[in-house]
Amino acid sequence: MLQVDSEQVHNFKNRILQLSDVDVTRCIQCGKCSAGCPVAPDMEEMPNQIMRYIQLNLKEKALTSPMVWVCASCVTCSARCPEGVNIARVMNVLRRLCIEEGYQPGQEQVNAFNSLFFDNIKKYGRIYELGLIVQYNMKMMTPFKDIGLFPDMVRKGKISLLPHRIKDIGSIRELFQKSKRFIKG
Ligand code: SF4
Ligand code: SF4
Repeated sequence: MLQVDSEQVHNFKNRILQLSDVDVTRCIQCGKCSAGCPVAPDMEEMPNQIMRYIQLNLKEKALTSPMVWVCASCVTCSARCPEGVNIARVMNVLRRLCIEEGYQPGQEQVNAFNSLFFDNIKKYGRIYELGLIVQYNMKMMTPFKDIGLFPDMVRKGKISLLPHRIKDIGSIRELFQKSKRFIKG
């Protein structure tokens, strides 16, 4: 007969509760969060499915979902939830756990973009769009992707040729330094 360790079964769900103070078991799978999520239409998994993974203690599924990394932290889902589940906060906690436990997002592009994005923030305190686009395209071996858009974007002032560093870059670096103590290894 299959022996089920109940403590083990509830470990992941409890860890999410402990780290986020959000009780995902309240989710009734109404789908309102997913209906309002701006990135969900482009994703294979919806925010309500991520909540379901946690309810079912499917740690691997939750921590390898690209949705966790594409989430824009816009908080629309949390505002719409009739059960008061703060989905956006749970997504933050899932990202933190991914880093702590060495899980890679399911898509290489998500991983590459995420690491370049944070490198930019650490260096300039904001995004240097042109540098990010070039680095990302090189990493993805698609150096000329979207090159046709470049002249119009510069002309309309959407991207600048040179990077701009914010004045108080020290406080940003301090934040990164402090966040290290939340990340093992
Ligand atoms: S809106 Fe709330 S209750 Fe509805 S599926 Fe999303 S998390 Fe669950
Ligand atoms: S916080 Fe994330 S999951 Fe929630 S609606 Fe915004 S993008 Fe979607």
